[in-house]
Amino acid sequence: MTNSHQTDLIARLPKAELHLHIEGSFEPELMMALAARNKIDLPFKTLEDAKAAYNFSNLQEFLDLYYQGMQVLRTEEDFFDLTLAYLQRAKADNVRHVEMFYDPQAHTERGVPFGVVTDGILAAIRKGEQELGISSYLIMSFLRHLSEEDGFDLLVESERWHDKFVGVGLDSSEVGHPPLKFERLYQRCAEIGFKLCMHAGEEGPPSYVREALLDIGVDRIDHGNRCMEDPELVSIIRDMQVPLTNCPLSNLSLCVIDDLKKSPVKAQLEQGLLVTVNSDDPAYFGGYIGRNYEKTAEALDLSNDQLIQLARNSFTGSFLPEAAIKAHLASIDESIA
Ligand SMILES: [Zn+2]
Repeated sequence: MTNSHQTDLIARLPKAELHLHIEGSFEPELMMALAARNKIDLPFKTLEDAKAAYNFSNLQEFLDLYYQGMQVLRTEEDFFDLTLAYLQRAKADNVRHVEMFYDPQAHTERGVPFGVVTDGILAAIRKGEQELGISSYLIMSFLRHLSEEDGFDLLVESERWHDKFVGVGLDSSEVGHPPLKFERLYQRCAEIGFKLCMHAGEEGPPSYVREALLDIGVDRIDHGNRCMEDPELVSIIRDMQVPLTNCPLSNLSLCVIDDLKKSPVKAQLEQGLLVTVNSDDPAYFGGYIGRNYEKTAEALDLSNDQLIQLARNSFTGSFLPEAAIKAHLASIDESIA
């Protein structure tokens, strides 16, 4: 058990969330409500049925459910409601800054226009800044099971909004879709000036992390668990201080690890890696960021200093300007003074 002192510390620490898919914050209650509002039939009759469906055993089964749930997101208001609900939940966990992913292709391919999705999310982000005091950056993600050509199409379609994105990401089914599949696309994104993020080493081998880092030149690795199988790669990641966005409850839920005690977070901290703790798809994986910190602290017997380090890393690993990072780090110092 996390002792109550640590639970208090976790609650008190200002945090940033760097690995969050906004569509993955879709709680069954809101899904049912939007389905009713949009007159869409879901395969679940009751909230209990919906909650039962949130049991899955691997990444593909999760993705099937995830895309099914998305079907009810149709209007700008839907995306606004989804995003604001997440930000309110993040506020409760003392999150001060979010860098959120979204998957436009998952919406445009089912006929929802790019602008409907993006403007709804952006409106909620503005409201979150004004009323909740949470700053948010948006990261446009490419679906890696689609082609690089599809990614280029998205880049063109999204052109009017490019100044609204801090960077790009790559998510969805990892195995069989290595980083180099998107080499040209990422080169173009770097030229535009986007920060580069990529999921790598969650289910895919350490070589995917190497490719993302050394061939593509990403600024941040999402997950990155399996880098630990390659000691030379660990040294490179440490020397470069590339942030890793670990998601402990997601790893457990998707059977990337069979026990939270096997989470690499503590080993990565001890080896001086810039690891952060995040929620990934919190509605589906059993908890938001506070619960991820608590469960990880409990399973790995993290010290208070390690918890504070994780909070510090969440800002250091962000894409915020240097001055803002400094201010957040100072607020961490204040919170523990
Ligand atoms: Zn993810």
